[in-house]
Amino acid sequence: MVRRPFIAGNWKMNTTRSEAVQLVRAVREAVAGVEGVDMAVCPPSVYLDAVGAELKDSAIALGAQNMYHQAKGAFTGELSAAMLLDVGCQYVILGHSERRHILGESNEDVCRKVHAALAAGLTPIVCVGETKDERDAKKTTDIVAEQFFGSLAGVSSDQAARVVIAYEPVWAIGTGVVATVDEAGEVHASLRGMMAGRYGAAIADQIRIQYGGSVTDENAADLLSVSDIDGALVGGASLKAGSFPKIIRAAVS
Ligand code: PEP
Repeated sequence: MVRRPFIAGNWKMNTTRSEAVQLVRAVREAVAGVEGVDMAVCPPSVYLDAVGAELKDSAIALGAQNMYHQAKGAFTGELSAAMLLDVGCQYVILGHSERRHILGESNEDVCRKVHAALAAGLTPIVCVGETKDERDAKKTTDIVAEQFFGSLAGVSSDQAARVVIAYEPVWAIGTGVVATVDEAGEVHASLRGMMAGRYGAAIADQIRIQYGGSVTDENAADLLSVSDIDGALVGGASLKAGSFPKIIRAAVS
């Protein structure tokens, strides 16, 4: 099966309101008419509304960078899936390495969020990936398996087909050190095998696996040429109006 590529930009905590609006306008214009690829931008949550307004009638979808698993209540500072849907989100990034490693999110936390996102009709982009020490200790497959199975515990086959996985080696995020095509390809293939073992080959074949970690307009085409790499989750380069559209175009060329 040919999976439709999916390129998403994670703007993290890096834009002002006017920068976010300017950036989305520029990206929107630069990718007008591009077909055959799903695209999304994930601005800081306070600007979701403003960026969403700029995306009306555009092929670029809106995504959030995080959410909480509860539907409502006394959870100061948190946002629910329904709130994200309400401002037009289709996607939500869950379990990003910065949330796992800086903010202490566990696989159980991520799993609760995955269930809440799916139940609400949001598509979760679930991030997994090993640190440099874990890779050096040859624990990459174990860590990725632990995060994949832990974050998707209790997720049914039908639900799994709607999930996007992002393989993001922590050592490659924001460092300029990109995984080689072989390094990334090996982990993506092993993730595909885990999916097949858990959900069967037909479902595994439908689940998209993005690569993330220092993707640029210069290395995107090579990475996206790998059969198990179905797109990219892009941090730094997604903030550049000159680069992100080129990464999107690389997915369809
Ligand atoms: C990310 O944070 O998801 C990411 C991949 O960042 P960068 O592209 O900057 O490495």
